[in-house]
Amino acid sequence: MTLRLDLSTPQVFAAGYHADLAAHRATFGDFPQVPADTLLAQVQASCLDGRGGAGFSTYTKLAGTETGRKTTVIANAAEGEYLSFKDRMLLEHAPHLVLDGLLLASALVGSSRPVLYARQESMAGVAALARARGVELIQAPGTYISGEASAAARTYLQGISKPMDRTTRLNRAEPGTKNVFRAERGPILVHNVETLAQLALIARYGSDWFARKGTRLFTVHTRTGAGALVLELPHGSSTREILLKAGFTGFEIAAAPAVLTGGFSGTWVKGETLNTPLGALPGGEGSEQAIAAGTGIIYPLLQKEDPLTVAASFLNYLAAENAGQCGPCVNGLPALADAFTAATLGIPGAAAEVARLGRGVSGRGMCKHPDATARFALHTLETFTPANRPSRPPRVLQNS
Ligand code: SF4
Repeated sequence: MTLRLDLSTPQVFAAGYHADLAAHRATFGDFPQVPADTLLAQVQASCLDGRGGAGFSTYTKLAGTETGRKTTVIANAAEGEYLSFKDRMLLEHAPHLVLDGLLLASALVGSSRPVLYARQESMAGVAALARARGVELIQAPGTYISGEASAAARTYLQGISKPMDRTTRLNRAEPGTKNVFRAERGPILVHNVETLAQLALIARYGSDWFARKGTRLFTVHTRTGAGALVLELPHGSSTREILLKAGFTGFEIAAAPAVLTGGFSGTWVKGETLNTPLGALPGGEGSEQAIAAGTGIIYPLLQKEDPLTVAASFLNYLAAENAGQCGPCVNGLPALADAFTAATLGIPGAAAEVARLGRGVSGRGMCKHPDATARFALHTLETFTPANRPSRPPRVLQNS
């Protein structure tokens, strides 16, 4: 896979390609010295959302975490979804901004234990820089589920990159619980690395700046030999704007049967919804009808691709990527993927079976993987019912 980074409208990437410390300081200045209560208020006012996929409020996570030296803050760059490359690009080109954000988040909760959790290929360029700033390194395996927040915490605690029981809260110390590692090691706060890079900008420029000039990262799949392109665009950019920025023509965008936005937990976008904002900040322009940006993956279908066939391949992948811990997930997701494939072939009753299995697996795993997978299957069937399915392939989708 060829990877490229677009730097035509950078904020997070303003220090340029492979920014070293000199370029970082020349662009952003020294490490910001901001009182904790001031920074926390700025984060709250900024409405910064988590950039790992779930979009949870960064302020709520920070403010809800028990403070103290035993608290651990993990910068999560594991990027479980194999179509996402934005976090890898961040560590490669803006490592000092990510480390600034990790150390700022650590300071906010009084932590003396900053940790970077990343795949081997993402870790290589940043490892020495991180160690020099007192950051512990933990390698993530290249599995889908290892990117889940509680899997990051469990890797730190136990060396096992699988989700923890979701009844076990990550950010509170609970001595006496069955998780002895937790009781000994204290609370754990996990933030995606893009979230932390954005936090480092908010610490420097404030929430008003973030509302006007803040950005979001997207991994756009060109579906040609050009591979994937990581783009930085304003909050609330639409799928059409993102594709145009990535080099698609208006005709090519119109010809695409649909575009998967936000990754495997995301949304199929087509027709008029191509103009709907993605990931607008609360209160920002278009925020009321905005589509969640999820992991920032933008995956347009090619002219000859059938949406249900592509979705079936994604579902088979997701079914195989369960962490083997929960029966409903281990047994239910392969059955759901099989039923979905049957539905794509028009077998009577298969769509109803997808819905039944979806209800059966949802809410019954240690993590939200089965819920998200079932939601994706049902959303896909609802979007591409026979009436909505492209009746003939559009003529062109080439990114010239
Ligand atoms: S729900 Fe599935 S993916 Fe999540 S921990 Fe259980 S088996 Fe693993």
